[in-house]
Amino acid sequence: MSLNGKTAVITGSNSGIGLGIAREMAKAGADVILNSYTDNDEDHALAAEIAKEHGVKARYIAADMSKADDCRRLIEDAGVCDILVNNAGIQHVAPIEEFPTGKWDAIIAINMSSAFHTTAAALPMMRKAGWGRVVNIASAHGLTASPYKSAYVAAKHGVVGMTKVVALETAQEPITANAICPGYVLTPLVEEQIPDTMKEYDMTRDEVVKNVLLKRQPSKEFATVEQLGGTVNFLCSDSAAQITGTTISVDGGWTAL
Ligand code: NAD
Repeated sequence: MSLNGKTAVITGSNSGIGLGIAREMAKAGADVILNSYTDNDEDHALAAEIAKEHGVKARYIAADMSKADDCRRLIEDAGVCDILVNNAGIQHVAPIEEFPTGKWDAIIAINMSSAFHTTAAALPMMRKAGWGRVVNIASAHGLTASPYKSAYVAAKHGVVGMTKVVALETAQEPITANAICPGYVLTPLVEEQIPDTMKEYDMTRDEVVKNVLLKRQPSKEFATVEQLGGTVNFLCSDSAAQITGTTISVDGGWTAL
């Protein structure tokens, strides 16, 4: 499967799943635009490294996905956006009555509203190009809930709902919109939680992974960033041209429970 000649914008892609997706897309030949809210040498170096490794064009554009103007500017600065991957996301865990309003607002803005703004800015470019793919990285929490994750679950359900609307509004055009719903993925963010959890529960690393992190993931294995990148690439392929307005779970059976 080749993505030669296509340009992909991946939000929140200087680490974790977004970076993994960018690498897989570049491997398939896509030019990639990396993004986060920081503007460090390391961010730009990541883009240079991907360009060199895969012989594609790669650029890093700093833009804060909590801000509507930045979301739209990201797409404008990209200049071309054949494939939009809305991946930027944050998490906060607390009971509803203790959930800080600022955290609620930030999660709704970054995890959900950013996808609205980037999609609104990208669709005219896709229409002009006569082809487009919107891929939203939702979550198993876009389909089911866990306690203490009110903002995250609300935002991810919102993303799944918006994905369906985008699909309907583009249904008769060569554009598709879908959401990928990962279960647990071992990103640096998740990795960092392991040592503290080992101490808290007096468990080995293996016990924390299987009995705490992967408690609800029947496969007892993490999904990988490469698998998610491969799923994005599949949604960009001709085989997926009639797949639109739906979700693909990459969750080791979590949502089958
Ligand atoms: P991560 O923290 O490694 O990556 C999040 C990315 O978003 C980073 O690149 C970060 O810089 C960026 N980001 C954060 N705030 C931003 C902002 N204001 N503007 C622009 N970029 C911003 O986490 P991850 O695990 O790779 O998560 C990526 C996405 O996958 C998120 O939407 C998350 O909800 C989703 N997800 C993750 C898992 C998991 O287990 N790791 C499971 C399901 C869904």
